[in-house]
Amino acid sequence: MGFDNFTMGEFMGRLKKRLANEQGTFIVTANPEIVMYAREHPDYQQLVDEADFVTADGIGVVKGAQMLGTPLKERVTGYDLMENLLQLAADDGYRVFFIGAKPGIAEKAAAKAQARFTGLQIVGTHDGYFPLGDAGVTRALVAAKPDIVFAAMGYPRQEQFISGMRRHLPDALFMGVGGSFDVLSG
Ligand code: UDP
Repeated sequence: MGFDNFTMGEFMGRLKKRLANEQGTFIVTANPEIVMYAREHPDYQQLVDEADFVTADGIGVVKGAQMLGTPLKERVTGYDLMENLLQLAADDGYRVFFIGAKPGIAEKAAAKAQARFTGLQIVGTHDGYFPLGDAGVTRALVAAKPDIVFAAMGYPRQEQFISGMRRHLPDALFMGVGGSFDVLSG
């Protein structure tokens, strides 16, 4: 797995440009479990290969890269990245969708995010328990016209979901955020 070697500041600069240009984006924040899982599951590795950016989430990944002689500038965690993107969405008026976690959690996380990031537009929420490819879920997302979709369903499900949904929202930025809604809502 190849990692993008950016500092958080550099990465946010890239993402700001891509959002402004309506350039569809898929971000994987790879922790050590994801790296191991991809190694053992070629179908998942293929999904990760579709991503526009793979960031090193986890000090183990940063250390591993150093040992392999390809040091990374810094650890870019999914949670920090999500917070920075929420701030950017609030500042620049991007429409955000939260999908994932148990029923009720995405709504709670959305309310917390809106209280924290003034002016943030959350245009829809959905829990993470539905059959992948569900037509109703697809319709709900397309109708909400989000610029940024956070998918909090853990791996490999969130990446499978994103891979299927991208073609319906080709201009949107998608990011898998694992258990982040549980943290944000708490
Ligand atoms: N989850 C989901 N749908 C599922 C399975 C899990 O939305 O079918 C959610 C679960 O409620 C939790 C998150 O995905 O909020 C998984 O978090 P975890 O910390 O296990 O994921 P990781 O960060 O390890 O990828």
